[in-house]
Amino acid sequence: MNNYMELKVKALSINESFVRTVVASFCLQLSPTIEELNDIKTAVSEAVTNSIVHAYPNKQGDVLIKANIVNDNTFIVEVCDDGVGINDYEKAKEPFYTSKPDCERSGMGFAVMESFMDKVTLSSNNGKGLKVTMEKKIVRQDSGDK
Ligand code: ATP
Ligand code: MG
Repeated sequence: MNNYMELKVKALSINESFVRTVVASFCLQLSPTIEELNDIKTAVSEAVTNSIVHAYPNKQGDVLIKANIVNDNTFIVEVCDDGVGINDYEKAKEPFYTSKPDCERSGMGFAVMESFMDKVTLSSNNGKGLKVTMEKKIVRQDSGDK
């Protein structure tokens, strides 16, 4: 089975927990473990928070979240904004790198995403802003694969 959802919200911190909960609910059809679900919630929360905190310093904007279920066992989440984007993806991904050290940011968002998901890819969102694509394989409890 393949399945798909899309959600667009205003880039406001009040929407972060809403998005995290919706994405986790959608993932439930793969019968994830609590740990897998928490990993996905945490990674989505970091990516959405980044779009809220960093993408739109001078204007208001949106965050678009897409979730795909592929081949019955792979969960792919995209978090997209059309904000200022990132020039150097490798530098941004380095643990402890932050462009906002004065705002109590620790620079660990991408490191957290990478540790909780199988794969994290950064790209531009059709030439604008940032698209974070995160992938995690969810092996069903009852499949005997674990
Ligand atoms: P923390 O996530 O620990 O609070 P942080 O957000 O600064 O701190 P990361 O999430 O690792 O750390 O992001 C690293 C840097 O990448 C940010 O400081 C910011 O400069 C840049 N960045 C991340 N996401 C975006 C985005 N959506 N748009 C523009 N810049 C971004
Ligand atoms: Mg962050």
